[in-house]
Amino acid sequence: MFDLSTRDIKYLQGVGPQRADILSKELNIRSFKDLLYYFPYKYVDRSRLYYIHEIDGNMPYIQLRGKVLSFETVGEGRQRRLVGHFSDGTGVVDLVWFQGLKFVMGKYKANEEYIVFGKPTVFNGRINIAHPDIDPAAELTLSAMGLQPYYNTTERMKRTNLTSHALEKLMKNLFTALQHECLDETLSPSLIEAHHLMSLTDALYNIHFPRNPDLLRKAQYRLKFEELFYIQLNILRYTKERRNKFRGLVFGRVGEIFNTFYAQNLPFQLTGAQKRVIREMRRDMGSGRQMNRLLQGDVGSGKTLVALMTMLIALDNGFQACMMAPTEILAVQHYETINRFLEGMNVRVELLTGTVKGKKREAILSGLLTGDVQILIGTHAVIEDTVNFSSLGLVVIDEQHRFGVAQRAKLWAKNTCPPHVLVMTATPIPRTLAMTLYGDLDVSVIDELPPGRKPIQTVHQFDNRRPSMYAFLRKQIQEGRQVYIVYPLIQESEKMDIKNLEDGYLHICEEFPEYKVSKVHGKMKPAEKEEEMQRFLRNETQIMVATTVIEVGVNVPNASVMVIENAERFGLSQLHQLRGRVGRGADQSYCVLVTGYKLTEETRKRIEIMVQTNDGFEIAEADLKLRGPGDLEGTQQSGVAFDLKIADIARDGQLLQYVREIAERLLEEDPEGVRPENAIVWQQLKELRKKNVNWSVIS
Ligand code: ADP
Ligand code: MG
Repeated sequence: MFDLSTRDIKYLQGVGPQRADILSKELNIRSFKDLLYYFPYKYVDRSRLYYIHEIDGNMPYIQLRGKVLSFETVGEGRQRRLVGHFSDGTGVVDLVWFQGLKFVMGKYKANEEYIVFGKPTVFNGRINIAHPDIDPAAELTLSAMGLQPYYNTTERMKRTNLTSHALEKLMKNLFTALQHECLDETLSPSLIEAHHLMSLTDALYNIHFPRNPDLLRKAQYRLKFEELFYIQLNILRYTKERRNKFRGLVFGRVGEIFNTFYAQNLPFQLTGAQKRVIREMRRDMGSGRQMNRLLQGDVGSGKTLVALMTMLIALDNGFQACMMAPTEILAVQHYETINRFLEGMNVRVELLTGTVKGKKREAILSGLLTGDVQILIGTHAVIEDTVNFSSLGLVVIDEQHRFGVAQRAKLWAKNTCPPHVLVMTATPIPRTLAMTLYGDLDVSVIDELPPGRKPIQTVHQFDNRRPSMYAFLRKQIQEGRQVYIVYPLIQESEKMDIKNLEDGYLHICEEFPEYKVSKVHGKMKPAEKEEEMQRFLRNETQIMVATTVIEVGVNVPNASVMVIENAERFGLSQLHQLRGRVGRGADQSYCVLVTGYKLTEETRKRIEIMVQTNDGFEIAEADLKLRGPGDLEGTQQSGVAFDLKIADIARDGQLLQYVREIAERLLEEDPEGVRPENAIVWQQLKELRKKNVNWSVIS
């Protein structure tokens, strides 16, 4: 049989050079194989016929069989339309076209039998179907039709009549050209048998032309299985290769520094989750292989402390540790927190950011080389080439989503034997997504908040109710609390109805003349920002008007209200992050989501979820479902293309987990990739790696 992937699409019956050009430009379809793998986005059940007298105003797409009694054009100008009065003997419906009138009149004739397909609407007591699909009844045998595939097309394709139906016809031609020959199987016989999968040939046929829903499900299952299986196999194999290449530093003991801290300095009991996670990391770091762990924990779950205790283990084993934060404010805060935690202990901690210069910087750099500086905390500045360590053993990266893979790699290179890596994120990444994104990372979860926290109360408020909200804020401030008010943008665009931070600031100053108001936004100099944050932290200002620069990490326990203006403009996980800025002290905290009156369905859902739950993981799952993985905050920058053809990370989580285990087992049983029964699998993996340059570095 000819090779489908090299067979030019222009040679397919019904294509030719012009259509080939459009297919290639619009859909990237160049070969027979490309077309074969262009899957429908939906199917419509065409195995049932309806009678016109059955129609009511609430029906989905249906099909009717009957004749057009007559055509007439009605209306003028833009209202001009063609109406075909269509009857099946039980009633009459009006088929209506606003475009392509000439084409329709030339093509369809009165008194011939057609199958009409479309969505009926009832208008002025008459039933209309606008722009129906029409096929001569003689050409369609209903029993064989089953589900009809619908393909996505572009505007340009539609203009040249390359509609979904046209693609469907091409697909039929393609299968005719294949003459029911079998395609080369891409999964091994043992996998196909063990998991009751359809053959590739059958699956591809049934994904386009399923005769019934059951066959469609089987075809989808087989193709999703394959897609996810190879992604997981690739990640797992890649991880293994890397682990074989690098040996890990062995941190065999927990020593004096850790124990002193635990016995004397730790101001509270660790939560069960914190203990478990520390144990997991101790095991990793003592195992002889490099630790690569993603630590997920909701805002306020106490990740910083866990990071610190992990760093102390490194110190106890004679190594240095480094912690990297995404912003200066956060780095400073970590530095101060950690210094406070370590008070009275003889541990040298230094802070390195872009603003640390001259003598101070030199002293830190030389202290790192001699090993005197044991813990370095900083921003991106710590990965500059001029920063070198005597023996870096552990790297902690806070708020992972702001760092790319490249930066992680750069840190590894700071020791001949790569240091252990702990990545922390407060943006909970659903497990299924984490497995795909960070397949090479082990995942730990802190799923418990320190005791005594009161859940934040979240309310939704329309913006015309501002006066009562201000009264509430005033009461909170009178009780000694502080308030955040967050705006989505700095620069007002007149057309878009966005509250401007500056306006908001002035407005708040007028509204609360008796209190001091801080203002922080992204365009301020770091030092100014820092100064304002510090003023708020010291309670010299009671209200903080800010943009999302305060999103990550800042800790002002006395702040008890988070007001988010134009909440409809924020994504779910961003809202959750912002809300996490309050609820850090002993007092009851509140989050007020302010929106306009008109909301889209999706926005309404987002707000509802926020009001209902404080659980970051639940929110992340919901976010993924609402927006799809490509949009998930934090993944855009990671450079991972979600180039999935059929599987859906949001919906196929269970299958993903299932195939991951299968891939794990296969790797265990055949670590060298030599068993003949797996030959097809290894060959296929090789092919995929060749084609997908990005694929091999998904981690
Ligand atoms: P995050 O996970 O968001 O980084 P932090 O590490 O900033 O959370 O912790 C939030 C607050 O909770 C800090 O003030 C921290 O000192 C405190 N904290 C951490 N662990 C505990 C604990 N086990 N018991 C009580 N308070 C804790
Ligand atoms: Mg934190």
